[in-house]
Amino acid sequence: MIAALAGRLFYFFMPGGVLLLAAVLFGHSAEVVHWRPVTAKLLFLGVPAIGFLVCWRFNRFKPVFGILILFLAECALNSFYRGAGLHPELALPVRDAVAVLMPLNLAWLALSREKGLVNPAGLTRLLLIISQPPLIGALYLYRPELLSYLSKDFLSWNFAWQLPLAQPAIAAYILVLALLALNFSRKRGVIDAGFIWALLAGYLGLVVYTGLLSTICIMLGGLILVTSVIEAAHTMAFRDELTGLPGRRALDELLARLRGDYVVAMLDIDFFKKFNDRYGHDVGDQVLKMVATHIAGVKGGGRPFRYGGEEFTVVFPGNAIDEVAGHLERVREAVAEAGFTLRNSTRPKSPANGRKGRGRSKQSSRNRVGVAISIGAASRDERRQNPGQVLKKADQALYKAKKAGRNRVVV
Ligand code: GH3
Ligand code: MG
Ligand code: MG
Repeated sequence: MIAALAGRLFYFFMPGGVLLLAAVLFGHSAEVVHWRPVTAKLLFLGVPAIGFLVCWRFNRFKPVFGILILFLAECALNSFYRGAGLHPELALPVRDAVAVLMPLNLAWLALSREKGLVNPAGLTRLLLIISQPPLIGALYLYRPELLSYLSKDFLSWNFAWQLPLAQPAIAAYILVLALLALNFSRKRGVIDAGFIWALLAGYLGLVVYTGLLSTICIMLGGLILVTSVIEAAHTMAFRDELTGLPGRRALDELLARLRGDYVVAMLDIDFFKKFNDRYGHDVGDQVLKMVATHIAGVKGGGRPFRYGGEEFTVVFPGNAIDEVAGHLERVREAVAEAGFTLRNSTRPKSPANGRKGRGRSKQSSRNRVGVAISIGAASRDERRQNPGQVLKKADQALYKAKKAGRNRVVV
C-alpha cells in the first residue's frame, strides 16, 4: 500500500515538481544571480523550439499549445507589465487578463483530447490561442468596460492580508487547480501532472517573482511540459498500460544487468481463457489489474513485471530461492483470498453457461468469483548461468504447478 502510494507520488513529482523546486532554489540562491539573464534568454527561446521538436516527434501537441500559451503570457507581461513598459496604463489590465486567461487556457488544453496540429481541429485550437492577445487589445481600445471585469473584485475582502491578484484570477486559479487535480487523480498521466506543475510555475512567475525570475518561472512551465512528454514516451516504452507494471522491455533490461544470485518467478492466472469467455474481455482486463496489484505488493525486494498476456514475472535480485518462496506463496494466497467481485451489470456472455449466472447476478448485486494464480520459480545455478536459462527453468516450474493442479507455487 505504502509502496503503491510512494510510486504514485513519485510519478506526480517527476519531473515537474523537481524542476519547479530547482527553480525556486535557483531563485533564492545569491551565487547564481549572474546566471539569470542567460537562463531567462535560453528558456525563452529554447523551450518553444525544443518543445515543438520534441512534441512533433512524439506526436503530442497539447503540450506545444501549453508552451505557446505560456510564451504569449510571457511576451505580454514583458512588454506591458514588467518595468516601465511601453504604456504604463496597460500594465494592470494586461496582468489581470494574463492571470485569468493563462490558467483557463491551460485547463482547456489539459482536459481536452489530443487533436494533433495540422488538421482542422488542431489549427482551430491554434487560432483560438493566438487570437486572444489581439482580442484583449481590441477590448481595451473599444470596450474597456468589458475588460475591466477581469480586474474587478466582486466580493468585499476585509481580511488583513491582500489577495495577490484580482478576484477573477484567484477564482480561475482555484477552479483550474481543482479540475486539473481531479483530472490527474482519474488518469494519472505524466502529461496531466505536467499541466499542474506548469500552472503552478505560471502562478509563481506571475505573483511571486518579478523581472528575470518571473520569465524563468513562466518558461520553466513550458520546460516542464516538454519533459513530461519525454517522460510519457519513456513510460509508454517501459510500462504496461493496463496494469501499470513495468513491461517486457523493462524486464529484459533488468535481466541483462543482473549479477550474482537472483531468483526469477513466472506467474500465470489459472483458467483465464474461461474467465474471458464467460464474462468478457473487459472483466478479464479488470481481473488482470487486480492480480497485478497483488503481484506489485510482493515483499522481499521482488521486482514485478507484466511478461505478456496473463503472465507476470517477479525478479528477486541478490536472493536465493529459499529466501523468496514464502513471499511468492503470500502473493498466491492474497490473489486466491481476494477473488473478484462482479458488478451487477456483469453477466456471463456465453449463452451455454450463462443462464445460471444471469439469474444469480440479478438476485444479488455483488457476485464473487474465484481467481487463482500458479507460480514457478528458479534461481541461477552452476548449470544455468544466464537469465534466459533461469527464466526458462522458472517457466518449466510453472508448467509443473499447472500440471499438479494449479493455484500453487513450485520452486
Ligand atoms: P492455464 O490455467 O493453463 O494458464 O489456462 P489459461 O486459460 O489461463 O491459459 P491460456 O494460455 O489458454 O489462455 C490465456 C488467455 O489470456 C487467452 C487470452 O484471451 C487471455 N488474455 C491475454 N492477454 C489478455 C489481456 O490483456 N486481456 C484479457 N482480457 N485477456 C487476455
Ligand atoms: Mg499463460
Ligand atoms: Mg493462464
